[in-house]
Amino acid sequence: VLPNSLQARDIAYQMHPYTNARRHERIGPMVIERGEGIHVYDDQGREYIEGMAGLWSVGVGFGEKRLVEAATRQMSKLPYYHTFTHKSHEPSIALAEKLVKITPAGLDHVFFTNSGSEANDTVVKIAWYYNNALGRPNKKKFIARVGGYHGITVASGSLTGIQVNQKGFDLPLPFVRHITTPHFYRFGLPGESEQAFTDRLAKELEDVIAEEGADTIAAFIGEPVTGAGGVVVPPVGYWERVQEICRKNDILVVADEVINGFGRIGTMFASEHFNIRPDMLVLSKQITSSYQPLAAVVFSDAIYQAVADHSETLGTFGHGYTASGHPVATAVGLENLAIIEERGLVQNAATVGAHLQKALRGFANHPLVGEVRGVGLIGAVEIVKDKATKEKFDPPGKVGTYLFERAQEHGLIIRNMQDSIAFCPPMIITEKQVDEVIARFARALEDTQAWIAA
Ligand code: PLP
Repeated sequence: VLPNSLQARDIAYQMHPYTNARRHERIGPMVIERGEGIHVYDDQGREYIEGMAGLWSVGVGFGEKRLVEAATRQMSKLPYYHTFTHKSHEPSIALAEKLVKITPAGLDHVFFTNSGSEANDTVVKIAWYYNNALGRPNKKKFIARVGGYHGITVASGSLTGIQVNQKGFDLPLPFVRHITTPHFYRFGLPGESEQAFTDRLAKELEDVIAEEGADTIAAFIGEPVTGAGGVVVPPVGYWERVQEICRKNDILVVADEVINGFGRIGTMFASEHFNIRPDMLVLSKQITSSYQPLAAVVFSDAIYQAVADHSETLGTFGHGYTASGHPVATAVGLENLAIIEERGLVQNAATVGAHLQKALRGFANHPLVGEVRGVGLIGAVEIVKDKATKEKFDPPGKVGTYLFERAQEHGLIIRNMQDSIAFCPPMIITEKQVDEVIARFARALEDTQAWIAA
């Protein structure tokens, strides 16, 4: 790290999210300077394939001029206005209308936030307010899953079921119960079928509801396909069972599609793929391809009506952010959705995604690979010490980190979640580019195998 370099100044002045600070002081940051299509370039001019689309989010790829123009147009006209106390503006209105039209039936109203975490806090507050409105002040608990990721604020970080987000922060708050994640490879019992596994998880959900009392549980929240928890595609029928049990117990179903939404798995929303009819749908990331920070909660008319009636009594619904529905962010969101539709990127995620899935499964026989999973343009390769027993390397994450670093040297940015390596490239990716992702990953895997053998 050279004195006065960007690296040195970064170390001196910035504390990074999701980063071991001491290790960061030793190795410094990789400084990304620009991006084009599926590629980004660092300050040394090195090219990388962004195999994670940033943080699962740059759907239309980097350098998309239409989004730059949409932002500057809106900046010149009205760079900011709020949506508090009966104020509004056209971009937020148009995007809310668009979201209601394209999301699954039964979702009729939109509340905007800046981030997925704030959107999930909003979900919690809407659910609480809703049950207060219905005169059920005890119906406040949330059921979430171990390995689920819903953000890092105090409430959303409590919904999250990942240790690194909770240890040291006194989380989760006690309003959340975490149950088993539908990760068959890891949590299926020896000899258990996927169907029997699903039955067991359904029974666990029923048992938790019985134990806590349905009259104390407000909602169930889950990512249709888990992202940060290691890219977990649930068994067929899992979501139908969860939904059926929740309906029977008057528990709201919340689909967190912050990663899945807007085409990632090959349908516009994963809820369509899994036959989920959520009461609340959480969206962010690909809503603007992350060119602007924006998230949204889209929710049912039944919830809206109860909340609206109650706020008439109370005087106001006292929740919202300075930048809720920010005009530049919502204008960029609208243009981004137009690009996704016009360029057929949802279809691309399905067809090129099938190619990616097939190519990743080419690693299934590799001695280090325990499982390959995924759907559409999201996938993961889980690295194990012993294929037969599924034994993990000790400590978890060491081999995954080594592999991730080697991939970066070979010009591929992917992400290791401990020893599961995620792939989530921009949705504009072509089959030929997928082949290049696979070739670079294969080199990194080879290096890793040699390192382990040595
Ligand atoms: N929900 C899911 C499924 C996510 O993957 C994320 C972020 O990765 C969040 C919520 C939190 O979003 P944010 O980082 O914008 O707060």
